[in-house]
Amino acid sequence: MIKIKNLYKSFNGLKVLKGINLEIKKGQVVAIIGPSGTGKSTLLRCINYLERPDKGEIEIDNLKINTETITKKQIHKLRKSTSMVFQNYNLFKNKTAIENIMEPLIVVKKINYLEAKNIALKILNLVGLLDKKDCYPSKLSGGQQQRIAIGRAMAVNPKIMLFDEPTSALDPELVREVLDVIKSLADKHMTMIIVTHEMGFAKEAADKIVFMDDGKIIEQGTPDEIFNNPKNLRTIKFLKQIR
Ligand code: ADP
Ligand code: MG
Repeated sequence: MIKIKNLYKSFNGLKVLKGINLEIKKGQVVAIIGPSGTGKSTLLRCINYLERPDKGEIEIDNLKINTETITKKQIHKLRKSTSMVFQNYNLFKNKTAIENIMEPLIVVKKINYLEAKNIALKILNLVGLLDKKDCYPSKLSGGQQQRIAIGRAMAVNPKIMLFDEPTSALDPELVREVLDVIKSLADKHMTMIIVTHEMGFAKEAADKIVFMDDGKIIEQGTPDEIFNNPKNLRTIKFLKQIR
């Protein structure tokens, strides 16, 4: 359902993505691992057009995009079918938990207030924060803020969710609650790409592991293939370093 073909991106002559090819089936969870500075965030940002790729194709369901000829309407559609969860939650500080989740429903999806509120209540329940619905972000822990951010991203019912190191800004004791929410989405067959340093989580939640280095996908396979039987020397070296 999702295909990325020959995706290239550079910043002022610095080649960051050097021909990325990736296929994801509906309901699959893909974990991207690899050293920092290798283009993992840039790849996610290109998929929802926070960055404009230089070249390549992006296909999500029946939306087929050639990045060199993309129209404004296609960019809008692409952004609507993807949603991103960032490292630093990026919640609206002057809105409560429930208002944060309602915002994209009202602004992007044009859903009316009452209906948006009902959807937001269901989502708050899913992420286990119904009792915090009227709290402002400053009154929530980092883990709780990130769970609200995940709720906000899933509220618009995207075709794919993109997570960029969703737990790396959290104190260690708050990581698990966020991973559990992501895991519950995986169990509901939400299609997701997760850039993560949490190898244990990648092993447990992902259907497919993608190892990126220097702007390229070096190796991909099942968690068993990549973690227990990596073939590429760079993958082997990376996994040794982080263990
Ligand atoms: P990763 O997420 O794997 O750590 P990134 O995608 O963030 O890697 O970055 C890859 C490279 O692209 C880095 O060298 C980074 O400095 C560079 N880069 C990322 N975004 C920009 C930008 N907006 N402008 C210039 N350089 C950037
Ligand atoms: Mg990154």
